[in-house]
Order: sequence, then C-alpha cells, then structure tokens
Amino acid sequence: MAQKMGQGVGRGEVLLRALSPPAQGPASAIGVAGMTAAHTLSLVLGDQLHPGHSWFSQVDEQVVYVLMEVRQETDYVLHHAQKILAIFAAMRDFARYLRAGGHRVRYVALDDPGNRQSIPGNLAALAAHYAAQRIEWQQPDEWRLDAQLQAWGAAQPLDWAVMDSEHFLTQRGELAALMGQRKQWLMEHFYRHMRRRYKLLLDADGAPEGGQWNFDHDNRKRWPGTPPVPADWRPQHDHSDLWRMVQRAGVQSFGDPQAAALRWPLNRAEALACLEAFIAQALPHFGDYEDAMASQAPRLFHSLLSFALNVKMLQPLEVIRRAEAAWRGGQAPLAAVEGFIRQIIGWREYVRGIYWSQMPGYDERNALAHRLPLPAWFWTGQTRMRCLQLSIRQSLQTAHAHHIQRLMVIGNFALLAGLDPVALHRWYLGIYIDAFEWVELPNTLGMSQSADGGLIATKPYVSGAAYLQRMTDYCRGCAYDPRQRTGPRACPFNALYWDFFDRHSTALRDNHRLTLVYRQWQKMPPQQQEALRGQARQLRGRLDAL
Ligand code: FAD
Ligand code: SF4
Repeated sequence: MAQKMGQGVGRGEVLLRALSPPAQGPASAIGVAGMTAAHTLSLVLGDQLHPGHSWFSQVDEQVVYVLMEVRQETDYVLHHAQKILAIFAAMRDFARYLRAGGHRVRYVALDDPGNRQSIPGNLAALAAHYAAQRIEWQQPDEWRLDAQLQAWGAAQPLDWAVMDSEHFLTQRGELAALMGQRKQWLMEHFYRHMRRRYKLLLDADGAPEGGQWNFDHDNRKRWPGTPPVPADWRPQHDHSDLWRMVQRAGVQSFGDPQAAALRWPLNRAEALACLEAFIAQALPHFGDYEDAMASQAPRLFHSLLSFALNVKMLQPLEVIRRAEAAWRGGQAPLAAVEGFIRQIIGWREYVRGIYWSQMPGYDERNALAHRLPLPAWFWTGQTRMRCLQLSIRQSLQTAHAHHIQRLMVIGNFALLAGLDPVALHRWYLGIYIDAFEWVELPNTLGMSQSADGGLIATKPYVSGAAYLQRMTDYCRGCAYDPRQRTGPRACPFNALYWDFFDRHSTALRDNHRLTLVYRQWQKMPPQQQEALRGQARQLRGRLDAL
C-alpha cells in the first residue's frame, strides 16, 4: 500500500512487526554481506547531512539509513570536480558518524558492483534485500528529486513517508501564502516578517536595532587593500583516492578537483569551526566590503559557509543567532551583522519560497527571449576581459565566487550580451560548490537574468564598466579600456549596456526605476546611438573572441 504523508510526520508512525526473511533475486546484486532484515529504509540524500535531525535522536535496530553515490546525481548536469568530491566525501563522513552512533547504515559507493546508479533503482533493490516494509525520505529540496521519489513511491507496494528535513525556517509554500496576489514579491517585505517572527536584532519594543531594518547603503565600499583579508581558515583534506575512483567510474566533470587539498568543511565539527573563524576574523568587515571585488583577495570577508549550510551540516538559525550574539557581545558592528543575517534569513529562505512557488516550469523561463550560446571561455576563463577572466578562473579553480562576482560580473555580462538563461542556469548549477537548484535557479534565472519577467528583480542587475571600475581593481591591466564606449579597445560592457536597454525598451522603458537610464539614452545624438548599436552587434557576433 502506497502511503504519502505530509511533512513533519514523526518516527512514531513506524510499526514494529515480525519480519519475514530477506528476499532473494536482484536485491542481492547490491552486494550486502551478512545482512539482517530491517523494517524501514530511511534515505539520506547527499545534501541532507544533518546530524541533529530527529531521525537520529535514537537508535532503532529496525531502521537502516541508506546513502548512495549514483550516476543519476553526478550526471544530471556537468559538475565541477570539487562539488562531486566534496559531496561524496561528506556523505562518507556522515555514514561513519551514524555508524559510530550505533545506527545501521547501508552506504552504496559509486563503484559498488550492484549499484543501479539511480536512487529508485537502488531503493527498490535494497527494499527487497532487507525485506523492508516501509521507506522514508526527507523532503528533497530539488523539484526533480521530489517528483521522482513521489512517482516511485506511488508505484510501490510498500508504505512510504516523506519527512521534513528540519532545516529551513519556512515551509515550501509559506512565501507564496505571505505574498498572496502581489505582482512583485519584494524580499524586503518577507525579510522584515522573518526578523519579527524569529525576534532577530529587535529591541525590547520589537523595533529594529539601530532604528532601521536594513543597512545596505552602508555596505557598498570598495576594498582599498586594508584591513588585511584573513588567511583561509578552511580545513584541507586529501581525497586523491576518492577522486581516482570517481575518474575510474568515468564521471565527466570540469574545474580543478584540488583532490589532494580539498578545502571544504566535510562534517559538522569542521563547519562549526569555520563558522567560528568567520565570526572572529571576517564578520566585522563583512558589511563594508560585501559588494567589493579584488583581484588579489577573491574571498575578501565572505563566510564561505554556503556549502556547509546547503548540505545541512549547519542550521540557518544557529548561524544567524551566532552572528547576532557577536554583535551583542561587541565582536562585530550592527551593519555587518544585519547584512549577514539578511542573506540567510532573508535571501536564502526567500529564493527557496520562489522556487517552490514557481516549479515546475520556472527552469524554462526566458522572458527576454535571450538565445545566444555561452562562449567557450565559460569553461576555460580564456577571455581578454579581465573581470570575467579572473572571476571564471577563480570559479574553475575553487568552485566558488562570491555574490557580486556571480551577479555583477558573470551574470551582468550574460544578461547584457543576451546569453540563453537556461544554458547559463545549467552552468551555474554545475560550477559552484553550493549550487542546488532550489537556491541556484531563482538567483540565476530570476535575480541575475530577469528571465522570470521581473518576479524577483525590480529592475535588471546590469551595469557598464563604470560600476566595475568603481568596485574592483579588475580594470587595471585589462586589454579593454573602461572609459571607451566604441572602438576596438572599448570595454564591451559599455556598448552592450546601452544596446541591452535599446533592444528591450518595449519591456523595460515603463519601469520607473529605469527612467533615468532611458532619459540618458534618449538624450544621446542618433549617430552615437547608432555607433553603440553597431559596436554591440559586432561584439555579440564574436563573443568567443572577446
Ligand atoms: P556570504 O556572502 O558569506 O553570505 C552568507 C550566506 O548567505 C551564504 O552562505 C548563503 O547561504 C546566504 N546567501 C547570500 N546570498 C544569497 C542569495 N542571493 N541567495 C541565497 N542565499 C544567499 N547561493 C547558493 O547557496 N547556491 C547557489 O547555487 C547560488 N547561486 C547563485 C547564482 C547567482 C547568479 C547569484 C547572483 C547568486 C547565487 N547564490 C547562490 C548566492 C550567493 O552568491 C552565495 O550564497 C554566496 O556567494 C556563497 O558564498 P558565502 O557562503 O561566502 O556567502
Ligand atoms: Fe571588465 Fe571592462 Fe574593466 Fe576590462 S575594462 S575589467 S572588461 S569592466
């Protein structure tokens, strides 16, 4: 009997029954030696490594926790090598942790001879093998997995149940319910609601500390080279053996694996140590330089906690409470702490709400009808545009770029040039260590590319070279000149910027936030407008050569 349960269903649902002997047949091909039957299989996905989940609060001999490395998950998009490696290494660590706590664990390695290389394939084999009567999983965060597991469950003769992942601060449908029929779902509105709900940075009267909700305007400084950026506090791991196994299995990937010195936290203890290092060494300056970019200091004062958060080693509430405590304890200024908390309780939960309100179908939206393929240098970093060269090379090397590099360098160029947003989404989903579709897709397709028709972004996030020159040192030493608009040495961002607004004037000119832009464009002499159009046409025709 297939049985679907709502989120938050408790373990009390599990019935303890006399077990029949384990089934034979295809299940034994999964290669479990010395198996004892189990009543329940509980699936732990690779981004559900949450040691504090109530599943693990007590040991139950009738439950086997199942973790699996499968080609289905390595291959649904071309991934950065570090992403594959870090997730597998963290899963292995988590399996060891569960075993050490007395739990029964079945870990299906990528090269396990019986591995069916798909989640349903392995679940079916293991269910038969253990003679399991029930299968449970935590709500997947990605629509494709959610749909796959629900469809599979519905066709099973077993009981099955879906549990809450006990990680997020909102339920999937909560943002949509809060926003109702509003045309634009403003993040700020949601953010204040969350601050009140979790009583974060509020004074005794419930008003925002410091007299304002948002200190964004204080957080836009260029980094002048001081204060010094802290040394990388992240641990290093040698996972060369694991990487060799992944390669032997024939998994395709891109980017530098850094297998002998993998720098991501791979368990909760390491993630907590990273959080503490961030609070002590970087949070005090996080706000000031949140939007800055520097060629010699790619990390600046960012936390690099997104991987640990997204695979659920860290919980959002503990991270923001820790940041708040740092402010209350005089360790960091209010503007920095507010800015950091806003990213997590605001943006992170908000984009998840957008994702679940818009899927399926959101991943195909292309409101501006942009169709150009990604230039080849997206996979090599070999372009003469220094801002893109540095940001993409860094992404290939480290599987990370901070928010403004993703938004105002790579995303900015893609939008101005008219690159296909779906192809871009797949690139972002593959390259970044923290990329899971629920968070990556709304950021890329919505915030960065305005491909959702302006649901998230009240105006397109684009700029010409002036912004990049102001916020970065990238333009120094670039083959292009940020002050020129036309001619062979003109920075491509400039002509593409004006051409973008010209091409999309029907869709954008009535946006009151763009009044100034269109006024400036209309003031330009027709010859200048034509020269910019011509320059942009020529640039868009040879993107690979830029
Ligand atoms: P910090 O700058 O230290 O910020 C702290 C935390 O806030 C992050 O760890 C993250 O959990 C959260 N956060 C910050 N901004 C956002 C945001 N816009 N949306 C959601 N959470 C946010 N973030 C991802 O986690 N996964 C992605 O796949 C992803 N793709 C992105 C694609 C584009 C085009 C853009 C513009 C942004 C994307 N982001 C994504 C958001 C942001 O860039 C990363 O969260 C951040 O760079 C991670 O580095 P950090 O941990 O040092 O972040
Ligand atoms: Fe980028 Fe243009 Fe500056 Fe070169 S001049 S780094 S292309 S903004």
